[in-house]
Amino acid sequence: MGDLMKFIHPDETRALLTRMIRSKSVNHPGDVRECAGIIAGEIKDRGLHAEMIEDKPGVANVVSQLDGKEKGKTLIWNGHFDVVTPGEDWEMDPFAGEYRDGFIYGRGTSDMKSGVAAMIIALGALKKAGSPFKGRIVFQAVGDEETGSDAGTRCMIRRGIGAGADFAMVSEPTNLNVTIGNRGLRWLEVSVKGRASHAGRPHVGANAIHAAARIIGELERLTFKARHPLFEIPHPSLSVTMIQAGSKANIIPERCSFSIDRRMMPGETSQSVLGEIEEILRKCSSDGISSGVRVTHEGWDPYAIDPGSPWVKGLCETVEEVTGKFPQIKGKAGCTDASHLYHYGKIPSVCFGPGLEDLAHKANERVALEKVVQAAKVYALSAVKLLG
Ligand SMILES: [Zn+2]
Repeated sequence: MGDLMKFIHPDETRALLTRMIRSKSVNHPGDVRECAGIIAGEIKDRGLHAEMIEDKPGVANVVSQLDGKEKGKTLIWNGHFDVVTPGEDWEMDPFAGEYRDGFIYGRGTSDMKSGVAAMIIALGALKKAGSPFKGRIVFQAVGDEETGSDAGTRCMIRRGIGAGADFAMVSEPTNLNVTIGNRGLRWLEVSVKGRASHAGRPHVGANAIHAAARIIGELERLTFKARHPLFEIPHPSLSVTMIQAGSKANIIPERCSFSIDRRMMPGETSQSVLGEIEEILRKCSSDGISSGVRVTHEGWDPYAIDPGSPWVKGLCETVEEVTGKFPQIKGKAGCTDASHLYHYGKIPSVCFGPGLEDLAHKANERVALEKVVQAAKVYALSAVKLLG
């Protein structure tokens, strides 16, 4: 442990993260080439090869790889470096990377340039130590996650980068805990068609808003069976988030449509979610009213891996070795690229990173430098432990 650890320094970690924060890789619009260039340069400075990959103009990803001293298993390290817009109410410049009382401030410090920086520091340390492991680490710094990952992690999977890997670690903010899954997401739209009439003679028409209200009432009363005890939110949820209807105050509305945000637990699919809503539409059917539901956005799939797997166990033991505290093992409420790696790449995946999820997308986002250094140590040591 000692040998590898002497190559991981707080000053170097802070300098790298500060450089990355100062590069405004805001997505949307998502021209992240400057930050990708910084990442590629930092990797090359540490004696590794770095390749830029850009499937969508401006959305650059950086790929690197470190081979161990003999053949073996493959481990993916993945992290996104695009960030959301800073928004208002900051007490400091969100792109200065200011350092105060042990914390680095700025957009992307927690979500999640700190994780990407820690992985680069760990790669550099492993390289300096003579790559003391078997197999291969494939590093993917992706430039598109905040708007859906198509030009980021999905692009890595399409191009077969790290294909067939045995395990993947995504450096999303977990406060040095380990997440073994996440909830999934579907957006759906329900359309209700009735019949217009003069509102003075409502019985001649069929009111689409009244019909939609009955459906929404049933949706609110829906109970879900799917559960996972390790998840932060251990059950599915359904929210009606937008509604459109009506054309004039004295016309019985002939159409009403509304949007649903549906968070899914492992085991749920588009089919199961649609089936449950179709059942309610059937139950609420009435004279002159027809209705339908469709998925408008596939989003992310829910997933969970076995918390008792040797990979998870080895990672957790390393966390305890470095921090003195055994990490919590849980499932994330939000969606991450780990789910894409799991579903499309067929790779058992976890999230582990130094950031705090609570600070993501907020003003005065920050990360404790000590945790970034600890994360770098965990990445480096766990690679040696897990790959053998
Ligand atoms: Zn993130």
